[in-house]
Amino acid sequence: MGATEPTVHPSAPRQSAEAPKPGSVRSPVGNLKRRPHAKVLVVGGGINGVGTFRDLALQGVDVALVERGDYCQGASGASSHMIHGGIRYLENGEFRLVRESVVERNRLLRIAPHYVKPLQTTIPIFSTFSGVLAAPLRFLTHKQQGKPKERGAFLIKLGLSLYDSFSRAGGTVPRHRFLDHKRALAELPALRPDVKYTATYFDASVHNPERLTLDVLQDGELAGRTGAAPGQGDTARASNYVSLQSMTSRPNPGTGRGSTVRLRDELTGDEFDFTADVIVNTTGAWVDLTNQAMGSTSSFMGGTKARTSCWTTPPCSRPAAAGRSSSSTRMAGSS
Ligand SMILES: Cc1cc2nc3c(=O)[nH]c(=O)nc-3n(C[C@H](O)[C@H](O)[C@H](O)COP(=O)(O)OP(=O)(O)OC[C@H]3O[C@@H](n4cnc5c(N)ncnc54)[C@H](O)[C@@H]3O)c2cc1C
Repeated sequence: MGATEPTVHPSAPRQSAEAPKPGSVRSPVGNLKRRPHAKVLVVGGGINGVGTFRDLALQGVDVALVERGDYCQGASGASSHMIHGGIRYLENGEFRLVRESVVERNRLLRIAPHYVKPLQTTIPIFSTFSGVLAAPLRFLTHKQQGKPKERGAFLIKLGLSLYDSFSRAGGTVPRHRFLDHKRALAELPALRPDVKYTATYFDASVHNPERLTLDVLQDGELAGRTGAAPGQGDTARASNYVSLQSMTSRPNPGTGRGSTVRLRDELTGDEFDFTADVIVNTTGAWVDLTNQAMGSTSSFMGGTKARTSCWTTPPCSRPAAAGRSSSSTRMAGSS
């Protein structure tokens, strides 16, 4: 267990967080140390970690979360800031994934309108039937057939109609819109003159994922508040600047269940043990390193990779886009 006189660990990050006074214990860390056990320990404070934390807290599960730096400092803070329904995955036949993402996107637009805004996206289209033959093959084989093909108006219309249909129950964004050559150029005169059509649809964007992540975290903490002294009765405790170092199979001495992990206060270097019946590893790109630290092997997932289907531009930074996001059908290879 940790010493009462913490010493500064050589690898402690010198970041924005204020270093605690010598000898003091930050209260979130104190809350973990006073009762060094939880039913579930979530490791990693990105959006997946805090989402899991909140979900468990709302169900009354005794949960703790540790994040080794600032909350949302990883991929969650460095994403393209899109809340998208994953339109591109329609081509792989991942309808359930797309429907779920659209429902979640609409839900976020409803419950977090202060952070999540509709994002108008326009696709310039240069052919009518391109990709029609390649798409069913890709759909059936789940493989790219040779060089990525441009998608024509027919395919895009089909995809966007399906996309809209997933919004039917509780749709919060307008349906897509198609314009022919003449009307497309009248609306966006800076487009390439050989554009045949434009398709405009809505997704959503989040400008401050950090703030959304903190809201989700605080919502979880609130759900676990019992009114008892902090750290004694609270059933949802979280601390940043605490990292998981290692794990042993030694169970909680009180209950005889779970495993023991070694946690380190990254601001003081102080280390302490914590037991949990279940450990959820939500450390994103570091998931394998965390598994390694816990002495377990990673099993790799197949299927959809977390890559974006579109690129976004800050509104008005591209004159042709007239403040919209632009999605190029010629970027198939980068999707
Ligand atoms: C370039 C790019 C663009 C993207 N754009 C989008 C987009 O526009 N829209 C979208 O929906 N998705 C997008 N994604 C995907 C999305 O960003 C990720 O799916 C999501 O952020 C992953 O969240 P996470 O919580 O799993 O991981 P992260 O946010 O990376 O969180 C993992 C956390 O674990 C912490 N950690 C690591 N090791 C330890 C340890 N030992 N102890 C304690 N904590 C530890 C890290 O500090 C980190 O904060 C994009 C991804 C990338 C790479």
